[in-house]
Amino acid sequence: MKLDVLAIAAHRDDAEITYGGTLIKLVDSGYKVGIVDLTQGEMGTRGSARLRGIEAKCAAKMMGIIVRENLKLPDSGVELRRENKIKLVRLIRKYKPHLVILPYWEQRHPDHANCSRLGYDACYLAGLAKLKVPGETHRPYKIIYSTSFREVACSFVVDITEQLERKLGAVACYKSQFKDMKGRKDVLIPGMDVFDFMRIRAAYYGSLIGVRYGEAFMVKETMAVQDPMKLLGRSI
Ligand SMILES: [Zn+2]
Repeated sequence: MKLDVLAIAAHRDDAEITYGGTLIKLVDSGYKVGIVDLTQGEMGTRGSARLRGIEAKCAAKMMGIIVRENLKLPDSGVELRRENKIKLVRLIRKYKPHLVILPYWEQRHPDHANCSRLGYDACYLAGLAKLKVPGETHRPYKIIYSTSFREVACSFVVDITEQLERKLGAVACYKSQFKDMKGRKDVLIPGMDVFDFMRIRAAYYGSLIGVRYGEAFMVKETMAVQDPMKLLGRSI
């Protein structure tokens, strides 16, 4: 099966939290969207790999994701190894996505940073004709990086006003991680849960483009414009 969009994330729930609204919007637009999670989440303080597998299925269904694969790399041990790149090359050749979504490349969690680099390298390697990996060569046309919770300037914001509630619903599938968070003392901001946090961040990014809610992305290339008359985002 060919996919239009392939999201590559380190942990189950990363894609939902950082750019779930955009994934739902792409599905709403009729694109075929898949997710590859690199790990099973077995190092998480809460839940288990088995439970997070069930939760990930629930979230994928809510978002309309048609393929969800798991590379079963060790959680907290996602390393920049050639064998891991090759595992991703297999999937890129199998699904031939036009667009690949990766985490932003600078991250505190090594799994996130390495996921970004593994995905970036795999997109290139998948296009090498002489690389002996099953499937036809394929190099995705575009790679975008999610910057939604990073303090870096983004290249663009996707309007997810219509998708925010469904995004929060998808994240709520991860009951082992986020249920009754407000009462917990180990959260980053006391009294606030991940849902408040996602809504606040989405409102901030939305405000940058004059809509209620948004998600932020960066690209490495300069953005190309065919018709300056059709630029979105009103100048004030
Ligand atoms: Zn993560």
